[in-house]
Amino acid sequence: MELDLTLSPLALPGVQQQRPLVIAGPCSAETEEQVMETARQLATNGIKIFRAGVWKPRTKPGGFEGKGVEALAWMQRVKAETGMLLTTEVATPEHVEAALTAGIDVLWIGARTSANPFSVQAIADALRGVDVPVLVKNPVNPDIELWTGALMRINSAGITRLGAIHRGFSSVDQKIYRNSPMWHIPIELKRRFPMLPLITDPSHIGGRRDLIAPLAQQAMDLGMDGLIIESHCNPDCAWSDAKQQLLPEVLDFILDRLVVRDNVEVTESITQLRKQIDELDNNLMDLLTKRMRISREIAEYKKLHNMSVVQTTRYSEILDKRATQGSLCGMSPQFIRDIYEHIHEESVRQQLEVMKTPATAPSANA
Ligand code: PEP
Ligand code: MN
Repeated sequence: MELDLTLSPLALPGVQQQRPLVIAGPCSAETEEQVMETARQLATNGIKIFRAGVWKPRTKPGGFEGKGVEALAWMQRVKAETGMLLTTEVATPEHVEAALTAGIDVLWIGARTSANPFSVQAIADALRGVDVPVLVKNPVNPDIELWTGALMRINSAGITRLGAIHRGFSSVDQKIYRNSPMWHIPIELKRRFPMLPLITDPSHIGGRRDLIAPLAQQAMDLGMDGLIIESHCNPDCAWSDAKQQLLPEVLDFILDRLVVRDNVEVTESITQLRKQIDELDNNLMDLLTKRMRISREIAEYKKLHNMSVVQTTRYSEILDKRATQGSLCGMSPQFIRDIYEHIHEESVRQQLEVMKTPATAPSANA
């Protein structure tokens, strides 16, 4: 499964491909004054790509659903006065047409839309034959296949200037973040498509101003290619996402202090450390193989004594004991529980295989 990204990275006219690529602007275009004031301040601070939501997906009807086509004229004024490139969210073929007619330079597909293959396909069809960069946000649910599928649909329409935006995932246990980052998902996307620019959206992950700086730094530490950050000239009075928007000067302060890591060079000492990791992984594999072998021997015993495969008290005891051991070793107990749930699942699968075969007498040394 490949993406055809012949022009990648995004190749945006007038924007040097330095890392990180920064896109900034308000969650929503509210009034002409708010759009212009925010844009002027961001442009003064060196921002080159301006974002603003013109059509807003709202969870319930009756909220502020964006100014629509009227706001596109304000965006055009931003470009004329500041020279910044423009980007907005499109969710339907009509949005695509209106945005392209207004000269929007980069389109993005929102998280709710990415989750719906019918909508993504309708957008892809509207984009056929058009050369415009498109950024695809991750779907609201943590499903990398759905995200990849959305990217492929857009790519199949001939869009080669393609990028992905990681904005986090809805989750039942929202503790710190508005949308759980689940970094392993964007990391896996990067592994699958190393040429695909991957941009982090700390605003929608964090949902809170004070989380933007640490999340942006984490994105850099993980080698992400850019950031899209919500910024508003008067954040507290914003009509949407007020808690997560930053004053342009605060954004500037944060970007100034961002440590951008080099993700290209591999040093000698890291090669040595990686060799040690490879060896440890081999050891883990050996241990797991042995553990499964013993588990199959136990299955022979259970079969002989007509016992059922799953003994829930034993299983609970393993989960609890290992989680405690893990936390004493500095690991998250949940991580250890998750690992043991997987090991147990494989163990049960192998024991069921043994149960299917005719019983054999236990060997002398079993
Ligand atoms: C937005 O960028 O303002 C937005 C609505 O984002 P998401 O699709 O990630 O919720
Ligand atoms: Mn928003």
